[in-house]
Amino acid sequence: MRPEDYITREGKFGAHNYHPLPVVLQKGEGVYVWDVEGKRYFDFLSGYSALSQGHCHPKIIKALTDQAQQLTLVSRAFHADILGEYMEFACKFFGYDKLLPMNTGAEAVETALKLARRWGYRVKGITPEHAKVVVCSENFHGRTITIISMSTDPSSYADFGPYTPGFIKVQYNNVAELEKALNDPDVVGFLLEPIQGEAGVVVPDEGYLRKCYDLCRQHNVLFIADEIQTGIGRTGKLLACDYENVLILGKALSGGVTPVSAVFADDEIMLTIAPGEHGSTYGGNPLAARVAIAALEVVRDEHLSENAFEMGILFRSEMEKIDNPMIRQVRGKGLLNAVVTEPRGGKAAWDICLALKEKGLIAKPTHDHIIRFTPPLVIDRDQMMEAIGIIKDTFAQF
Ligand code: PLP
Repeated sequence: MRPEDYITREGKFGAHNYHPLPVVLQKGEGVYVWDVEGKRYFDFLSGYSALSQGHCHPKIIKALTDQAQQLTLVSRAFHADILGEYMEFACKFFGYDKLLPMNTGAEAVETALKLARRWGYRVKGITPEHAKVVVCSENFHGRTITIISMSTDPSSYADFGPYTPGFIKVQYNNVAELEKALNDPDVVGFLLEPIQGEAGVVVPDEGYLRKCYDLCRQHNVLFIADEIQTGIGRTGKLLACDYENVLILGKALSGGVTPVSAVFADDEIMLTIAPGEHGSTYGGNPLAARVAIAALEVVRDEHLSENAFEMGILFRSEMEKIDNPMIRQVRGKGLLNAVVTEPRGGKAAWDICLALKEKGLIAKPTHDHIIRFTPPLVIDRDQMMEAIGIIKDTFAQF
């Protein structure tokens, strides 16, 4: 089959809910992927930051295949030997009393919202049905009905109503707006991305997160960090946010191997949910538990946060050297970076991504004019310099 045939078949039988770059991948290893014709590419999307440990990391794949031959699913109706080991490991890794295991990022966000509401009623003492959660403009937390009810992006929410009530939207990176919203005594939580990924890698001002956290404490409101994209080394630190009451992780928690997400909180919050009140058939399954331990060990043992920090500085400094009128801004932290482009001569970010693909690097635009560059955190200096060379050559074409 030719690449076009794969693409046509996908389009014929699959819903048209994505607009992929026209490349058909077959194999991945580390920072590289290969298409069905054997051409190699640098993967500078990394499964929207899920593949931080690189494609098919041998240690994670071994964990997966070993566990797959032993026990894959029990459901939480029974105990599994590996689940407690994973929970203890992950709680100590991130510094929380407990975790609640789910699968996708969106499910974990839903879980955090339920926890916040439950805590609001049972601990804070909010009148039943009155709880509100403050969220930010341009947020992206997933695709469920409740989550898109918090969205300010019409392409996420338009014509999917009626929407879930109970959210107050404030401007991201605006402390004064948050403070005003927190004056409402029914607010139970403030949910935010420490860096807004899907919005185009929007980095807030220095000190913003700290101020938000302090305000939340002052108002007895839970500070809920959605680190599904920013967490586990991506921004050059283990977590992009150092202080939160509720932490949401997903994506790289399994190194792109199987859907694993989790919500972390201390007992006062987590124990407000009792048996039978929340869960998921696959949440915390033995395969996920074993894979997540391995994925976190890889981040720790291979010093991936530190590497992301260093490679990020190199990447941004080299991007800033490019003198091209199509580049408006370079921004990011660690290996969560973006180049904001300016359309020119009828060419836009999509055309640049097509040209990058031709030269052997795949990346994807977000919001039409922003190209996100988020390679696996295992990328080394030589690989980074080669990839930067491809990006420079490509911009020179425009
Ligand atoms: N939260 C953030 C910050 C994300 O970036 C994403 C996905 O891009 C999600 C939540 C949703 O995760 P999932 O696609 O696994 O549901």
